[in-house]
Amino acid sequence: MRKTKMLCGIGPATQDWEVFKELVNNGMNVVRVNFSHATDEERRIDQELTIRARNELGKNVAILFDTKGPDLRTCDFENDSIDFIAGNTIRIIKKPVIGNKERISFNYPQVIDNLKVGTEILLNDGFVRLEVISVEDTNDDNSGVTCKILDDAVLRSKRGVNIPGVDLNIPFISEDDEKDIQYACEHDGDYLGISFVSSADDVRAARKLLEKYGRGDMLILSKIETKKAIENIDEIIDETDGIIIARGDLSVEVPFIQVPVLQKEILRKCREKGKICIVATEMLKSMCKNSRPTKAELTDISTAVFDGADAVWLSDETTIGKYPDLASQYLGEVADVAESHCNDYKTKYSISNGHDIPDLIASSVVKAAEDLNVKIIVAATMSGFSAQKISNLQPEAVILALVPNERIARKLALNWGVYPIVTPEYSSTDELVTDAINQAKKFMTLNSGDKIVITGGFPNTGSKTTNFMKIEEIK
Ligand code: PEP
Repeated sequence: MRKTKMLCGIGPATQDWEVFKELVNNGMNVVRVNFSHATDEERRIDQELTIRARNELGKNVAILFDTKGPDLRTCDFENDSIDFIAGNTIRIIKKPVIGNKERISFNYPQVIDNLKVGTEILLNDGFVRLEVISVEDTNDDNSGVTCKILDDAVLRSKRGVNIPGVDLNIPFISEDDEKDIQYACEHDGDYLGISFVSSADDVRAARKLLEKYGRGDMLILSKIETKKAIENIDEIIDETDGIIIARGDLSVEVPFIQVPVLQKEILRKCREKGKICIVATEMLKSMCKNSRPTKAELTDISTAVFDGADAVWLSDETTIGKYPDLASQYLGEVADVAESHCNDYKTKYSISNGHDIPDLIASSVVKAAEDLNVKIIVAATMSGFSAQKISNLQPEAVILALVPNERIARKLALNWGVYPIVTPEYSSTDELVTDAINQAKKFMTLNSGDKIVITGGFPNTGSKTTNFMKIEEIK
């Protein structure tokens, strides 16, 4: 039973029920709605598809709304693409335009004021480099800079732009971001992805807005994609609910040869601090065009699993790729194979559990499950917290979380190995234990003599936190 969670961007390639259904059946746990791209109509479609999957397929599919953030992007292009040809020139102007091979604009025109002759501009995660060769000195909207194109590529509209070493002076949360966060709150978002985080203050600012719009419970996933975020990684991990290692932008903001090591370090820190960690971008990039992945991509997915990722991620592969269904299928299958070898290859972290009761119970549950070769741990959890604690220790057993409602179930959609089920609240411990055994038997085949570990809070003591563990043998 798969433990690695799967997060997929939804876009033109998947905004169709038959394709979307394939992704869900292949194990997609979370849908990413990217505010950088999704139009109002697309957001509506993505949510409708997700709700339909919950209702018709009975799957616990959550939604991640992902802010634009101080995310510098190109404008829309005529016919949605421009053929960049190395050696040609192109202007970047302040006035917002529909781009063509003569001139383009950026979503933050003020950035152009900070460009100098010789500045390198990276488009689409660095695949197209532009070098500024002249700066126009007039100060009207039609002015800008002229750049030499250094690489050949066809790019679609609204591609990411990075200008390493140049202070872009863009606010972390713009008016548009605030509107998007409000939208996420009003449309039952489960996770808020925040782009281009650089400090714990950024995370706090986003949380304040979630509170302002009545959804302080929404989980925040901080996207690590700048040098500043790497410098402040510890305080960001402390403040956030989870981390997305956004390797696309990260690899243009820091020297890309460092990304594999940074990925390992961030995964280790997240496991040690008990935070969700997602490895993102280019996991199956070649499948945007090809029906078979490269061997390096297969190894990349397995490495993420072995290094302790909660979830792996597809973006272009499922938003605009040619084989979104196959990509999601292979992503899951490779994770399955890696998981079946976790005993041999999974990185063991020294997770220092605190001395509070939920921490101690989580580590005791995992130790008991491992010593007794238990296949399933059942955690009755009102907030999802105790299932998250157990999941962080990445036990071999699956974790069946008995939760009070669907929102809490979706809150667990990204935690490694957790399968949530909504059950009525229990009025006594006996009732809880009896139902835990029944739910476990319904969930998987258990034979007489198999043991299960059950944990939760004693309902009849009014406890709101995990305070017991019980080992039961199947009769
Ligand atoms: C990334 O840069 O890797 C990433 C996940 O961010 P986005 O897809 O928003 O560019």
